[in-house]
Amino acid sequence: MISKRARSVDTSGIRRVFDLAAQLTDPINLSIGQPDFDAAPAVKLAAKAAIDEGKSRYTVTQGIPELRAALRSRYELTDEQDVFVTAGVSGGLLLSYLTLLDPGDQILVPDPFFCIYRDLALMVNAETVYYDTYPDFRSTAERIERALTPQVKAIIVNTPGNPTGVASTQSEVDDIVELARRHNLVLIYDEIYDAFCYDEPHPRCLDRYENTILLNGFSKSAGVPGWRIGYVAGPKPLLSQMTKLQQYTLVCANSVAQWAMIEALEVDYSEQLQAYRKKRDFVVAALEDVLELVKPGGAFYVFPKAPGGSGQQFVERCIKENLLLVPGSVFSRRDTHFRLSFSAPMETLERGVEVIRRLVS
Ligand code: PMP
Repeated sequence: MISKRARSVDTSGIRRVFDLAAQLTDPINLSIGQPDFDAAPAVKLAAKAAIDEGKSRYTVTQGIPELRAALRSRYELTDEQDVFVTAGVSGGLLLSYLTLLDPGDQILVPDPFFCIYRDLALMVNAETVYYDTYPDFRSTAERIERALTPQVKAIIVNTPGNPTGVASTQSEVDDIVELARRHNLVLIYDEIYDAFCYDEPHPRCLDRYENTILLNGFSKSAGVPGWRIGYVAGPKPLLSQMTKLQQYTLVCANSVAQWAMIEALEVDYSEQLQAYRKKRDFVVAALEDVLELVKPGGAFYVFPKAPGGSGQQFVERCIKENLLLVPGSVFSRRDTHFRLSFSAPMETLERGVEVIRRLVS
């Protein structure tokens, strides 16, 4: 009864962790992939106003003109470029795959990777090819070029990255752009964590290369992951195909969230950024002498090497101590690391690193 497509997606790795976690009461949860702050008061007010004003109908497929205009100016789009609003970056990814990839086509994805990159390829019968970024987790043109095949149509770059927190530099992105241009590849640029850059400005891509599909959203930056709102910017011909497919799949993004995000674009999130930088610094300082880790320049994750060699086994040991983490095998072909999310209150982080230090010593 069930399609090969559905059966091809295997979620057993993460399910095993969830099953173990379900047996815990009040765990120290450092497995979370969303911000720990709430929507800003002004954003909540804007959402409530939209509801009260009856803005509950379908919007046009591409999203309300007011939000698109605000995004157009944020990214300084050219006449050849467009932006449309969708159901989170996940929605943008789905439409990118549906629009770009025929069965048998290949997409080049970093390893480690945000798991949807692999699973969407399975759903459209495309093939994932990986560019390995161990041990420093940097996406470089050289690593991408080594993995390139004639069947590859698109490359994904995710900066700052999930699960590693590693942030690319502008010159790394420029080199990848040059490579993509040489091979006429679409560059899917997932910058959902762009608001969480701790050391260097977030590198630009959309204004460097005409075949960029930029994906971003408000789940992380505005603290509204449940509102399902994001956007896609890129070349008009590609985006009109994507919008056509949105019309018959997702229809439109959440109307109330669209109105509220005009407000979210005006909010100053520097306090949150400061708080997250502090958490990053705390976790790195607390663990770098006992674990092999790369200091993350962004997002809210650290991806250390697992003591003993197996991420799965180390995470299971931590769960026995009431600490929840995610094994690296959920995000990678390897099971050598684990992901710790520092998107948690300081007190939780303190308890979490104490458990890890105790287990390692
Ligand atoms: N890309 C990356 C790298 C992510 O980590 C996430 C969320 N975990 C997403 C995309 C999807 O985000 P959303 O659909 O909520 O916008």
